[in-house]
Amino acid sequence: MRIWLSRPHMSGYEEARVAEAFASNFVAPLGPQLDEFEDTVTEYLGGGVHCVGLSSGSAALHLALRLAGVGQGDEVWVSSMTFAGGIFPVNYLRAQPRFFDLDPTSWTIDVDVLAEQLDIAASEGRLPKAIVPTDLYGQSVDLAALERCAANYDVRLIVDSAESLGASYKDGRMAGTGGDAAILSFNGNKIITTSGGGMLVTRHKAWADEARFLATQARDPAPHYEHSTFGYNYRLSNICAAIGLGQMEVLNERVERRREIFGRYREALSRPGVSFMPEPDGWRSTRWLTALAIDAALTDVSREDIRLMLLEHEIEARPLWKPMHMQPLYSGTPYYGSGVDERLFEQGLCLPSGSDMTNEQQDEVIERVATLLDSRI
Ligand SMILES: *Cc1c(COP(=O)(O)O)cnc(C)c1O
Repeated sequence: MRIWLSRPHMSGYEEARVAEAFASNFVAPLGPQLDEFEDTVTEYLGGGVHCVGLSSGSAALHLALRLAGVGQGDEVWVSSMTFAGGIFPVNYLRAQPRFFDLDPTSWTIDVDVLAEQLDIAASEGRLPKAIVPTDLYGQSVDLAALERCAANYDVRLIVDSAESLGASYKDGRMAGTGGDAAILSFNGNKIITTSGGGMLVTRHKAWADEARFLATQARDPAPHYEHSTFGYNYRLSNICAAIGLGQMEVLNERVERRREIFGRYREALSRPGVSFMPEPDGWRSTRWLTALAIDAALTDVSREDIRLMLLEHEIEARPLWKPMHMQPLYSGTPYYGSGVDERLFEQGLCLPSGSDMTNEQQDEVIERVATLLDSRI
């Protein structure tokens, strides 16, 4: 592959931070770099939250669901169009998912559909334990509306912000600060990476304390190992946190670059039948991945035609996430909506969006896609 969808992009500051960690021998899932990384992210998010560094975004969601009291048989209502890591933790806890469609004006969870179903569920006495909407492709969900829903029915709200670090919502709040808790991911393909890692962000200090306890094998205070509940080995390595410190130095630059890449694609590829992921007024997406939809009825070119053509030229593009209600694993699971996500899956494509992609590389992608589109229109 010559042009990747989204690759790790080092700033050059990471190695010195890793060397510091080695020099002090904190080659462990604790240490000063981990503490500083948590503080740095807290400050970046504007304060008022507690951050717990973890081994992955999936681990963060697992802990958040457990903190929300989710257990066997409980319902968790989630965005259907999401990545597996944003849903599998529901299975770890033997809880039951229900899937929700996207709003066509934001490509994030449709809050009207959700509110309607909460109303029905409340009247039938079967409310979910938690709601987990996904900030898709770098864009915040409609936080205020979701928080209202969650408060109305006293349901915990956990926002999957794994894809949206650096984005903001219309009231100025940073993605990752909403709800009872949010999760972040620092996997290699995300906007910044620790090689692998995640974070639980919560405004409840008690949740953060409990997350630290559970993430380090639930050790009760005692000189020996004493356990009144079971935990996990989920803390972030101090070495990985040191990489994160180097990456945080350039997070704003990375957001700017991804937005610039999106802008260049939109400028060059907008045509009848080609629509880009909308950004509602006042919201600021990171454009983690440039997502667009191709209506083959108008363009005479399908998203697969484009994807396969790019692949032939060693350019990686991918369909949008396949909605979970369409996955074999979740067949028969309740789904609410009108299939906006199904249509976006059929028509949707993510184009190479890495911040380390050069303009020349992007021009090649643009030229190839434009040529194919123009050959048919
Ligand atoms: C990446 C991602 C996750 C999982 O994060 P990991 O760090 O890979 O475990 C969860 N949800 C969404 C929406 C993601 O994109």
